[in-house]
Amino acid sequence: MRELLLVRYGEIFLKGLNRPYFIRELVKKIKHAVKELGGNVWVNDSRIFVSDFTDQEECIRRVTKVFGVHSVCPAIEMPKDDFEAICQQAVNMVSGLKGTFKVSARRSDKRYFMDSPQINAQVGGRILRSNPDLKVDVKNPDYTVNVEIRDLAYLYVKVIPAVGGMPVGTNGRATLLLSGGIDSPVAGWMIAKRGVQISAVHFHSYPYTSDRALEKVLDLARILSESCCGIRVHVVPFTKIQMEIHEKCPDDYTTLIMRRFMMRIAERVAQMEHASALITGESIGQVASQTMAALGTTDSVVTMPVFRPVIGFDKVEIIDIAQKIGTFETSSLPFEDCCTVFTPKHPATNPKMDKILEGESRLDAEALIEEAIAGIEIHHC
Ligand code: ATP
Ligand code: MG
Repeated sequence: MRELLLVRYGEIFLKGLNRPYFIRELVKKIKHAVKELGGNVWVNDSRIFVSDFTDQEECIRRVTKVFGVHSVCPAIEMPKDDFEAICQQAVNMVSGLKGTFKVSARRSDKRYFMDSPQINAQVGGRILRSNPDLKVDVKNPDYTVNVEIRDLAYLYVKVIPAVGGMPVGTNGRATLLLSGGIDSPVAGWMIAKRGVQISAVHFHSYPYTSDRALEKVLDLARILSESCCGIRVHVVPFTKIQMEIHEKCPDDYTTLIMRRFMMRIAERVAQMEHASALITGESIGQVASQTMAALGTTDSVVTMPVFRPVIGFDKVEIIDIAQKIGTFETSSLPFEDCCTVFTPKHPATNPKMDKILEGESRLDAEALIEEAIAGIEIHHC
């Protein structure tokens, strides 16, 4: 007899031929998540199991964060021939519980000496006799005692909800513009949840932004990485570009021109990463560079689609998600971002394209971009 975890995945994406591929990808991601705990991940009859881990609580914490996992059930695996032992185990698993229950038996071994209704009746009867605080309710029980008869017997009661979504990599790749703020980690998380493998690009304006500000961004990437199975963060030296813009371009256009440079560089990074879209944490009207007109001028420098999953969210709604996914605390640490260092007093909210182009014509954009790209440092988070 041993304790293990039964991992459940969503069924809707699993019709037909996709199923083995999806399960294979999910197993890879779970293996990555638990490898430091010595966990063994295996598949039996379309069920994913994790066994041999050193720390069950930590193992559950990690597996419930992996995109594609819908719930995790701590289970007992035991021999199936000793039915008395199975009943006793079921009784132990509900000891101390109050309310209603049902037993749900499943047999993949059709030669087993009892069928599912018989198992339900026998195990249910034993539970009723041993625990007077439990009553049967087959329609809407508080607890379901699951008994699965395969090559061995598996029993579980507790179902711990997980993050859901699809395994990253099953829906392509995208590159996230990751700042140290609240919005961009949430944006990256939302797209990755749909099965997109993300890489990140961060613009760092040393010495105007400190090493600690960079460390904070890498910490955010590490938090996302628990669900995303590893993120490469490209740190781009951005000081020279910002200084040049600040010196040579009209003050009210500096933020927008800076953002256009970010998008151009991010697109090049995305190409290097074989990604086919960009992700930002922008939301309409949040700041001057996120008015409808401003967003149009930043989109127009790239040809890749730009995903902005929080575009219609209020700040409080974004904060809610940040808290749920565990990035809020780190995002709230008070370190400067490159956007805030050179912020103009009166940024243009209704920018004119000819003024942007006139400002940019004073810069050698291509040389600046190439130099920034040559200076990229990659961190594996
Ligand atoms: P905040 O919660 O402070 O709004 P933010 O990450 O949304 O944080 P904004 O100034 O609103 O920051 O920037 C809008 C978007 O531009 C961000 O969501 C992010 O995608 C991108 N961005 C901003 N600064 C950087 C940076 N230094 N490196 C990479 N991307 C950045
Ligand atoms: Mg923002």
